Amino acid sequence: MWQFHGGVHPKDHKNLSSTSSIAPADIPPFLVLPLLQHIGEPTEPVVNIGDKVLKGQIIAHCHAYNCRKLMTVPLHSSSSGTVVAIEERTVPHPSGLTAPCIIIETDGKDTWAKQVPLTDYSDLSSNMVRDYIARAGIVGLGGAGFPAHIKLRPDDIDTLIINGSECEPYITCDDRLMQEQPHEIIAGAKIIKHALGGIKRCIIAVEDNKPAAYKALSEAADEQTKVVKIPTVYPTGGEKQLIYVLTGHKIKRGQLPAKFGIVVHNVETARAVYRAVQLGRPLVSRVITVTGGAVDNPQNLEVRLGTPMRFLVDQCGRKPEMERLIMGGAMMGFAQPDDDMPVVKTTNCLIASLGDRIKDKPVQMPCIRCGACMNTCPLNLLPQQLYWYAKAKDLKKIQDYNLFECIECGCCSYVCPSHIPLVSYYRYAKAEIRKGENEQKKAESAKQRHEFRIFRLQREKEERKAKHKKAATDKSKQDKIKAALARVKEKKGS
Ligand code: SF4
Ligand code: SF4
Repeated sequence: MWQFHGGVHPKDHKNLSSTSSIAPADIPPFLVLPLLQHIGEPTEPVVNIGDKVLKGQIIAHCHAYNCRKLMTVPLHSSSSGTVVAIEERTVPHPSGLTAPCIIIETDGKDTWAKQVPLTDYSDLSSNMVRDYIARAGIVGLGGAGFPAHIKLRPDDIDTLIINGSECEPYITCDDRLMQEQPHEIIAGAKIIKHALGGIKRCIIAVEDNKPAAYKALSEAADEQTKVVKIPTVYPTGGEKQLIYVLTGHKIKRGQLPAKFGIVVHNVETARAVYRAVQLGRPLVSRVITVTGGAVDNPQNLEVRLGTPMRFLVDQCGRKPEMERLIMGGAMMGFAQPDDDMPVVKTTNCLIASLGDRIKDKPVQMPCIRCGACMNTCPLNLLPQQLYWYAKAKDLKKIQDYNLFECIECGCCSYVCPSHIPLVSYYRYAKAEIRKGENEQKKAESAKQRHEFRIFRLQREKEERKAKHKKAATDKSKQDKIKAALARVKEKKGS
């Protein structure tokens, strides 16, 4: 084991929901399914308003040729019902942006479309299994939303790491999943190994504060799977941090774990792969922790994608004092503009927060240059410098200090004695840089269009000129011929 630089031990609040077994969430009257729930190419609807749909039916996919090779996955209906709208809705994103969504009125029957499992997957090629996983709409369920099949290309991979280190405070869904469904996770890991070209080595990493999960997985594991306990330090669950802890390899900026022959998948992604391949069920639901002081009954729920968050908070006993709803954990999560936001593939936790915590929030003070943020940053960045340049809106300098290496883990904000919301500054700077880049791209394409228009007009002008010149030359030739014929005629006449 290696220990990465920095990290923190925040109060985990996991006891609120850690003893709650995974229970099915109710079917909501409406599902709101954003067309883009993954990193990569967007999808387009393949259903129309008024269409009847079944659970597990593809309702949107990328129209590009052979989209299974692209960074995209299709979207499936998560229950049966009728498409009642395809429109822009606010989606769960820190910027509160809107995006196209398919709205389905459920019929309460939850009828599955025909399920076609690949029970004999080990007789099929890795490519075929990978394509099947792509078609099942599976993305990294640890929070990133990266299409899982992209990380299943063999490219000299020899080690699969299954990430069971759920280090964020409040979240317990992976812990419960490891305790309750270890065989599905192990079976999923086996399928992933087959899709990676039949590799042998698999490590499942579980933090040492989850002894029951460790025991359950150890008992279910086959001889090619090693379940290991790792120290509980936030953010061990980050891909780079986990790889470093297990192997000592430092993944630098721009590098992929594949450089070291490693690929990492989350425990719930492994379960989703098992369900898709062995049961023929695409990704239509996931386990979510609904917790916080503003619900009477914190729970781990198996939730249909597209379920409005309000519906889940109500199912867990909303308290009237609820002040805000956070999606994600206490360190990396962000408050939702309202609780009508839908659950998406990357939603792993909802924290219903009481108002008194917000009122008690300490006042932000000036930076005292104590260096605590630097000592705790797991990426060895200089958070204080990043803060100064974000505040000064010096977007060039802040990139020189590797802003985009920041994983927004929140360790720096957590230890800052001046209570500066450092991550908010970094998010703001990143958004401004991306906005600037988009504007520059737009300006460049507008410039190219303008230059092409000038070129086209000039070319047309020259073509017209050449045409007129040719017409004039032709006319003069014809005039000469006519005159010559007239002279000949005149001679003959005389
Ligand atoms: S921890 Fe806060 S006060 Fe200390 S240097 Fe960093 S930003 Fe400044
Ligand atoms: S939020 Fe970014 S800068 Fe702060 S500790 Fe985490 S990685 Fe470092």
